[in-house]
Amino acid sequence: MSWVLRNPPWRFALRHGLLAVLFCDVMSTASAIIFDIDDTLYPERDYAFSGFAAVAEAFADRLGDVREAAARMRELFDTEHRRRVFDRFLDERGLSEDTGLVRRLIETYRTHLPAITLYPDADQALTRFSRTHKLGLITDGPARQQQAKIDALELPPRFDAIILTDELGSGFGKPHPKSFEMMADRLGVEPGCCVYVADNAAKDFLAPNALGWITVRIHRAEGIYRDAPAAEGGGVAGAAQHDIDRLDQLDAVLNPSVARPRGLGPTDPR
Ligand SMILES: [Mg+2]
Repeated sequence: MSWVLRNPPWRFALRHGLLAVLFCDVMSTASAIIFDIDDTLYPERDYAFSGFAAVAEAFADRLGDVREAAARMRELFDTEHRRRVFDRFLDERGLSEDTGLVRRLIETYRTHLPAITLYPDADQALTRFSRTHKLGLITDGPARQQQAKIDALELPPRFDAIILTDELGSGFGKPHPKSFEMMADRLGVEPGCCVYVADNAAKDFLAPNALGWITVRIHRAEGIYRDAPAAEGGGVAGAAQHDIDRLDQLDAVLNPSVARPRGLGPTDPR
């Protein structure tokens, strides 16, 4: 009995987004799916490699052979130097004395026109869900860099609302709840009817979980944060409520009764 008092069914249901789904179904309230960008809709690794090519091209007079320089940066990306590829690269070339150079490399990287494309399942999911849900985008990172990605992927006409947390001011990046509250407000949707799909458990799910959103983590095969441990914040869970590998699995998460008819298991060959 005491366990029941400490763990009432409503708490379990709320934690797992069941009440939210029920509320949305019963009330026929418009619901919304909000996506992260990097490693959710397109491979972030491709953005990095595109940036290395742009930097190698722009600074060929200092960095030498363009193809060789870009190849070395790609190699460094797969080492423990991933977060400081340019520092390490300039160090190897004996150019680390030029402190202004690394700044210019980073500026070129962040402002280059990226050669990136959506994951095919993301492209299909955006088309499919645009018929039934409002769609939003919340992304961290330098605003100009994220906007360049959004433009390269031709995302603006496919979303009802896009929020770059960098434009909200300092300190409002994920996991701060401001962008999530703004998104629900902008879309005119109850928080319990919002779904957030993202890849990085270290920061992506803390705020939407606390606000009563449904949260879904996507594990991309080459995702940079695919193994990131979940954040913990004041007792609020940082782990997503659902896990998927591809966005065509999202339909089953949002509407399990339709995607998995009674008597059929998730692995039924039909
Ligand atoms: Mg991401």
